[in-house]
Amino acid sequence: MKKQNFYDLNFDQLKNFLIEKTDVDNDKAKMRTQQLFNAVYKKNIKNFDELTTFGLKLREKIKNLISLTKPKIIDIQKSKDGTIKFLLELEDKRNVETVLIPDKTLSRYTICLSVSVGCYLSCEFCATAQISKKLVRNLSPGEIISQIILCKDYINDWSTQKKITNQVLMGEGSPFLNLDNVKIAIDNSKNKDGLEYGRTRITISTVGIGIKKDNMDAIEWAAKELDVYLAWSLHSSIPKHRSEIMPINDKYTIESLIPQLKKYYDQTKLPIFIEWICLEENMTEKQAKELIKIMKKVPSKLNLIEFNPLTNKDFKPASQENIDKFSKIIQENGFLSLFRRSRGRDINASCGSLANKKSVGDE
Ligand code: SF4
Repeated sequence: MKKQNFYDLNFDQLKNFLIEKTDVDNDKAKMRTQQLFNAVYKKNIKNFDELTTFGLKLREKIKNLISLTKPKIIDIQKSKDGTIKFLLELEDKRNVETVLIPDKTLSRYTICLSVSVGCYLSCEFCATAQISKKLVRNLSPGEIISQIILCKDYINDWSTQKKITNQVLMGEGSPFLNLDNVKIAIDNSKNKDGLEYGRTRITISTVGIGIKKDNMDAIEWAAKELDVYLAWSLHSSIPKHRSEIMPINDKYTIESLIPQLKKYYDQTKLPIFIEWICLEENMTEKQAKELIKIMKKVPSKLNLIEFNPLTNKDFKPASQENIDKFSKIIQENGFLSLFRRSRGRDINASCGSLANKKSVGDE
């Protein structure tokens, strides 16, 4: 019988598992779950023999029922700017990538997590889309949170070190197409006995997917269930142009998403990050004016992201002059606009660059 992967369960699921499958009493189950969470997520035990606070019989039972299986790191690339990209091999031999992006001091990192192998949303500027053109499969909760554990191991970020300060779910795939698994990974990231990240240390991204979840809009569901920052990959404020570079816009229009994003803010009180890749064609005055209309409706901040031209499409990066002009228009209208230089360009680890042929090659 295949063992249950520890990393696939959230706190309540593990508690119920212990009650159902081991001799742990109902009244001790919470304490045992806390001990297990602490041992794995804080002390980073590698196997259950290290659970010395558990009696031998219970330890053996847990060992026979639960595994601590994680993907394997099979390649590491380091950029001149300190960015580190990891190629991971999953149990089924598929691959995904994870990136550690350092701050200016090179002592703190943001981790960029992948949530699926491949992606079918076909954003024209995205390397994942250019290579995969389809979703091969979603990652399990364990495969998502393991990316953090593996990177913490690599840079020795245990105990009180807190080197990986922030996480963004902006690697391969769309978190809104894998919400149940993303929720378990985020639950365990936020849990005080888990990795203990604050809600403002985590950002999930969406191109804007207006699907329903549990009889409500998925964006509203995410506000209630995930309660972290939301980044909206907008990239164009003119519907016709947005549809050209992001086909999802035909299905879920900017107008239809605005009320849902507004509700996300109302529920979380966290501004929406509007993500905007700086292309020559979307840094115009007309785009800025349309964007301001959107920002007036959705409490938000603008993140301008330097474009890394690596796909075979003929997008050109915007000039610094146009980026400055665009930013000035946004700021003069009272909104925050930040420009982020692309990181890890020399190792294809910058925004929109995550993809590897091995992940999807033979499907
Ligand atoms: S940008 Fe994100 S949603 Fe769009 S194709 Fe790439 S991975 Fe998918």
